[in-house]
Amino acid sequence: MTSGNGKPAYWKPEEETLARTALEALQLDRLKKTVGRVFDAVPFYRKKFEDAKVKPDDVRGLADLARLPFTTGADLRSIYPTGMLAVPLDEAMRLHTSSGTTGKPKALFFSRRDVDNAAELCARSMVATGVTRQDIFQNMMTYGLFTGAFVMHYGAEKIGALVIPAGPGNTERQLMLMQDFRTTTIHITPSFALYFADFLEKKGLDPRKELNLKRAFVGAEPYTEATRRKIEEGLGLRVFNSYGLSEMNGPGVAFECQEQAGMHLWEDHYVMEIINPETGQALPDGESGELVLTTLLREAMPIIRYRTRDITSIVAAPCACGRTHRRIQRITGRADDMLIVRGVNIYPQQIERVLMSVPKVGRNYLITLDGLDEMTVKVELSEFGFDGQLEHVVELQNQIAAQLRAEILIKPKIDLVPPGTLPISEGKAKRVIDNRKL
Ligand code: ADP
Ligand code: ZN
Repeated sequence: MTSGNGKPAYWKPEEETLARTALEALQLDRLKKTVGRVFDAVPFYRKKFEDAKVKPDDVRGLADLARLPFTTGADLRSIYPTGMLAVPLDEAMRLHTSSGTTGKPKALFFSRRDVDNAAELCARSMVATGVTRQDIFQNMMTYGLFTGAFVMHYGAEKIGALVIPAGPGNTERQLMLMQDFRTTTIHITPSFALYFADFLEKKGLDPRKELNLKRAFVGAEPYTEATRRKIEEGLGLRVFNSYGLSEMNGPGVAFECQEQAGMHLWEDHYVMEIINPETGQALPDGESGELVLTTLLREAMPIIRYRTRDITSIVAAPCACGRTHRRIQRITGRADDMLIVRGVNIYPQQIERVLMSVPKVGRNYLITLDGLDEMTVKVELSEFGFDGQLEHVVELQNQIAAQLRAEILIKPKIDLVPPGTLPISEGKAKRVIDNRKL
């Protein structure tokens, strides 16, 4: 497993480097089984298939997937709590839910094998970044109904790394654990990572000299390359992009390898498609659209053609690491996140990209929309961004407004605020507040 000879390390090389033809044959075999199982065992799917006039036998090749109906987040809510179970309830071993911001959450069941498979994929993902049993893994994600912390916890245990189930928040204690147990690897949201970097900076603590951190798995919310660099600089480690969603087991769906150039999506467990979110039509490799995922091995709750709402594209070119599973690009946003301001389509990540490229700008920001399309971007100055001269602040505000205008075609009001004044969330960051009454 370790790469003493400089070769890339794999968790299970035969699974990760399977030839494409064999991998696709495996996908088709597993897809057929999954489709047959949900048709027989889940009335929700039987009805959906009947409405779409397709039968399991119609799936003869991977391309036939396009004939099957989509499953949406609304579908999952509509069958809450147990309507999508494909096994008797007593075979389900764990329940997670996914963000129920309004109304009922989505209930996700795992069988014993599902729990094990989720951990396998996390072990595979972590080893791809260089983790070994010598590593000390501080898991700074929320434990609880969310999949985020648990699934990675079990993956790290499978590798045999020492796991510290720290959970989020409590920066002083996090730091103490890192120092006392010489943490090498952390799992953290981008917003908490930026906050933690600020905290170290304020303490005057140089992580390169005083900590043993090597890498961070950063995911759960969209972030940009500029943010990756800020986290890498602020914490003195390498950031690996980690993608997952509770509907598909949580983390470990797609993960960056040591090449850090797109995330391998584990195609022996999922079939991916990229579609035009408006028309539902498939898009060719390389084009940006909505990621649609079908589970291939989930027992308790298989899901067919799940509309993730996440916007990305497929990188079909082989990766230098030797893994044959194709990669997806960094998620640029969610189809639901798109803001329409004065007729212009804007993703919050476009704004983040500009803000994080300005050196005097700190690590936290908040976009507010009011009245009839008035946009205000509140952004923190960095610790060294303010020299006490007001005209410099005004100058910087104008500069940021102009740069944003070039990117998003409208000029928001910029409100620079002192570091540490914007609220920081332990879970997913809330970056947009839409008060418009349109
Ligand atoms: P969990 O993070 O526990 O899986 P959710 O299922 O609520 O919880 O969140 C999944 C969503 O989080 C994804 O659909 C995606 O929008 C977002 N997400 C997860 N990882 C990333 C990532 N690396 N980059 C961008 N967005 C991400
Ligand atoms: Zn790779």
